[in-house]
Amino acid sequence: MSWNQDIEEFLRERGVLQVGFATVETLAGGPPSVDLSYKLPGARSAISFALPFRRDAIRAFLAKEDRVPHEHDNLETNLRAKDLSWELAKMLEREGFPSKGTAANLKYRTEIQGWQLTLPPDLSHRYLAVRSGVGSFGWSGNVGIKGFGTAVILGTCLTTLALEPTAPVPVEESFCDRCKLCHASCPVEMFDKELEASVDIGGVTFSHARRKSILLCQFCCGGFTGLHRSRKWSSWSPGRFRVPEDEKELLNELLRAIALYAKRPVMPGGYEHSALKGAKQYMTCGNCQIVCWGDKKETAHNVKLLKTSGCVLQEPDGSLYALPPEEAARAFEKIEPERKQLYC
Ligand code: SF4
Ligand code: SF4
Repeated sequence: MSWNQDIEEFLRERGVLQVGFATVETLAGGPPSVDLSYKLPGARSAISFALPFRRDAIRAFLAKEDRVPHEHDNLETNLRAKDLSWELAKMLEREGFPSKGTAANLKYRTEIQGWQLTLPPDLSHRYLAVRSGVGSFGWSGNVGIKGFGTAVILGTCLTTLALEPTAPVPVEESFCDRCKLCHASCPVEMFDKELEASVDIGGVTFSHARRKSILLCQFCCGGFTGLHRSRKWSSWSPGRFRVPEDEKELLNELLRAIALYAKRPVMPGGYEHSALKGAKQYMTCGNCQIVCWGDKKETAHNVKLLKTSGCVLQEPDGSLYALPPEEAARAFEKIEPERKQLYC
């Protein structure tokens, strides 16, 4: 059996959905985040894989019934991806090939000035996954797999072993039918509905929606704000900030929201984020990733749940609740000014 087969079997036995292999050659000419030597000098290959999320927890999250089970599942799946990559690295090291596991999320190139706002990843699991054929880009820019959509977490193990590269998913076999329901699920419309962007990696061009501004995602996915501009629905964030189109104004509003966020009551759940010192972060969005299940009917149902489950508000004790949009607006207006200004 080849090393590729051994590794694939090792990962599939542990619940992985898909496995792929990229090499320094197939990654040549790609963005800095596919430079394998950044994390492991002498690395020759990246082993990319995907794990699924719990769908019942996603449904409860989107319907605003319960936020915490999906947050737990999300964090646990990320940890599982990290643990698996390290377990695989140890197995390869025992065979004489220096290897390294990687964190599936929340690791950044902290030597880059302003990294706390732009969050440049130490390694792009997405690029490695599309180049190695683990999945392909959906319109949202998340990576998805046929039958699973983008509700997956990606992991990567780096090794000095020269593996046989696997091919990207052909465009005609992509899970993404460009339904654009992911666009409809973003409270701040971070990515475009029509315009595309592309990236070249190892002589292959990959495309997805053009991102308007990464700050939009930091603003919403960071939990600082969550109300859609229609004011008819929100993410799990109780924030109701203005989201300016102008980049400089957007940055100023984001910085103002971050300062106020630190004064909000602590919510149930949450986790530490290296870019946010002194305050916990909570999973309040991720919608564009978790709504897409690789089946148009299921995805449409997810978006309907999200958009009909109202707008979130926060109690003084930190707990969250959702109300239909007009009721939420009235309840918000009644909040005493000192508390209200933490959210808008
Ligand atoms: S929601 Fe539709 S357009 Fe978006 S990634 Fe999924 S299949 Fe593609
Ligand atoms: S995570 Fe949320 S805010 Fe960020 S792009 Fe996706 S839907 Fe929009």
